[in-house]
Order: sequence, then C-alpha cells, then structure tokens
Amino acid sequence: MTDQNDILFERARAVIPGGVNSPVRAFKAVGGTPRFIKRAQGAYFWDANDKRYIDYIGSWGPMILGHGHPAVVEAVQKAVLEGFSYGAPTEREIELAEAILALVPSMDMVRLVSSGTEAAMSALRLARGATGRKSIIKFEGCYHGHADALLVKAGSGLATFGNPTSAGVPPEVVQHTVVLEYNNLQQLEEAFALHGNDLACLMIEAIAGNMNFVRATPEFAKRCRELCTQHGALLIFDEVMTGFRVGLHGAQGVLGVKPDLTVLGKVIGGGMPLAAFGGPRAIMEQLAPLGPVYQAGTLSGNPVATACGLATLKEISKPGFYEALGQKTRTLVDGLKAAAAAEGQPFNADSEGGMFGFFLMNDLPQNYATVMTTDNAQFNALFHGLLERGVYIAPALYEAGFVSAAHTDEDIAATIEAARDIFRKR
Ligand SMILES: *Cc1c(COP(=O)(O)O)cnc(C)c1O
Repeated sequence: MTDQNDILFERARAVIPGGVNSPVRAFKAVGGTPRFIKRAQGAYFWDANDKRYIDYIGSWGPMILGHGHPAVVEAVQKAVLEGFSYGAPTEREIELAEAILALVPSMDMVRLVSSGTEAAMSALRLARGATGRKSIIKFEGCYHGHADALLVKAGSGLATFGNPTSAGVPPEVVQHTVVLEYNNLQQLEEAFALHGNDLACLMIEAIAGNMNFVRATPEFAKRCRELCTQHGALLIFDEVMTGFRVGLHGAQGVLGVKPDLTVLGKVIGGGMPLAAFGGPRAIMEQLAPLGPVYQAGTLSGNPVATACGLATLKEISKPGFYEALGQKTRTLVDGLKAAAAAEGQPFNADSEGGMFGFFLMNDLPQNYATVMTTDNAQFNALFHGLLERGVYIAPALYEAGFVSAAHTDEDIAATIEAARDIFRKR
C-alpha cells in the first residue's frame, strides 16, 4: 500500500518550506514522515491513510475538551452564520473578556489578540512602555513565541546579555535580554543585583511546557515575585500553555503567586486563533487608544474565535471538570511510571491538570540543560513505537503532553499498554 502521508509530504515540501507551517510538525527531531491529519473527533485523529491515533498533543494544548465538542461546534456554526469578521467591536468580545477576568483574578483588564506570539510580544512592549525601562529577564527552555527579543539563548556570563537563537535577529535586538537558568536562585539574585534597576520585566512559564514539563519550585516562583516588586520590574507569567490547562486559574493558581501581567492563548481559543494578555488597570490603560503603547490587530477578538473560546471556557468552568481531568492525567502518568518500573527502564513523569511530561531518567529535571541530557535515540524509539501502535505524542522530547476530557479510561489503559510493550522489547 502506498503511504498517503509520504505522498502529501512530498507535495507539501514543494510548496511550503519543510512541508509544514510550524517547524516541530515536520518530525525533524524524531525522523520519519509527519502524519497528515484528515479529521479529528473526541480524543482521536485520523491520518491520510485513515489510521486512527489517540491524540496527546491536542493541537499543542487548545483541545482540552477533545475534538468536535458538540457545544463548541454549535457555537462556532452559529457564529459563522453571523459573519466571519467585522473590524468593529462586538458584545462577544466583552463576554469573553469578562469570562477570562472572572477566572484570573490578577487581571483587571485584558486585550485579545490572535496568537501567543503576538500576546507575549505585546505584553513585553507594554512592560517596557509602562516602566520606561529596557532590560528583560527570561529563562533557558521557556518559549514565549517567536518575537525577536525573545529568541535568545544565554550569553557567556551573567553580565553579558543573550545571543540570538535565530538567523535574522540582530544582536542589537536581544542586547537587553538576560537569559538565566530555570530554578537557579543564585543566578536570579545576581541578575537582579546587576540589572534590577533597568529591568522592565521578568517573563516566565511558571510551569514550563516548552522544555517538556518542568515546574518552577515554589521558592523560585516566590523569589521572582519578591525581586520584581523590590526592583519595580513587572512579573509576567506566560500562561499561553498553562492557562486553563493546569487548572481553572492557571499556574498562578497552582503556585499561589500573583503576576503583574498574564499572557494567555491556546485553551482560550478552543482551537481557533485567539490569545490575550492582561493585568492591572493602571498598566493596561497604557495601551492604545488610551495610552502611548501601540498594539493592534485586524482579526483581534474575531467573532468566530471568541464564540469558540467562550463555549470552551463555559465547559471547563463546570464543577468537577479539573478534578476529573487531573485524575485522568495522573492515571496515565502513574501507569506509565509503573510500566517502565516493571520493565526496569529509567523513567519519571509529572502532571498538573491536563498537562503532563515524562522523562527517560530517574529524577525529574529542574532545568533545560538536564532535560536535554535525555537519550535522543531512546526517545525517538519510544515515539515511533507509540505512533505505530496508534498513540500520538509530541514529536520532540522537549514538548509537554496533553490529555483532554474526551480521553476515556480505555484510551489511557491502551496507551500504558503500548508503552509497556515498547519498554519490554528494549
Ligand atoms: C505556544 C506558546 C506560545 C506561542 O503561542 P503561538 O500561538 O504559537 O504563537 C507562547 N508561549 C508559550 C508558553 C507557549 O506555549
């Protein structure tokens, strides 16, 4: 049988760089042909060969209800009939803003945009505009979208600023970005001592999902808050992934730390292009048209996207939603750990709400460098073994995984069994 994915990949590569519209989809890290998805329903999607997969990426986070939830589909269908986009304000934007603010108490006001990249970039500009300062702190392994100033890796020392991680980003653009090791308190203290007085903000994924799954320790998160307050810098939680994913109140709810600005995306659009950033009124009113910080978007607050987001938020706000989702995710993680232990494989895993990560090592890593010590070949073998058995996890070892409300106990059990089979044959 000819593999339809191969045929599509060849066609795609002729017209789209690398055949994909976002790099990680290309399977470059794990090798092989990316699966081209035809359709999805509940916890599953089907590729071009009509092979079914249990989906643990959920569009990289948004699909917390699973695919094609009836209430969401209905809301979107209704919205589409009323028009795709107006470029003028709508009541639905107010409803979504009110719904978000009711669930994230650190925010008094919110601005809706179309992607997490845009939201993080805008929050950064707002922080610089509101403080009148230039420097920013970010952490190795945290991803905040692909705005120039945030595509940075650590420089040669703390006194130096970062180096671009992408061609096309001039060193001048990242010369105010300090990159620190995640969970390293000593580096954090030193960076504030050196740069604190010119620091506009510290941006962090408080539960990091772009280096697999690494939690900021409670002590580290608390110290970020204290140092920002002491030095007049804004604490920005990038909750594009964790917002409404690790719990109804995000990572800030889990950690009990209140950021100044919050960046949201993924779940709030329910699979449609929608993201947001928000915070205290006095800061948010620095934005145009009220204030001097410019930010805008043709499709911002799009009526179809807001309908999708609102319907999604309504479902996840129902009592018991996160208890059930968290339990399901823990069952998966505990089952994988038990399977690895039974087959004598080094393994560890962690989860919060509907987000999880697993590691082919005995201890949970605390930072990016440790995550990246994972044996690539072992991860790739596990990835392809699962794929073959109809289980689709993220095609890179530094990505988190996602469980949706649509995953059944049977799906979880089948996933654990597939993993055990691979561990056994190792
Ligand atoms: C996905 C993600 C982004 C970027 O969002 P896009 O919608 O892909 O632009 C930013 N920050 C974090 C933490 C993310 O996980």
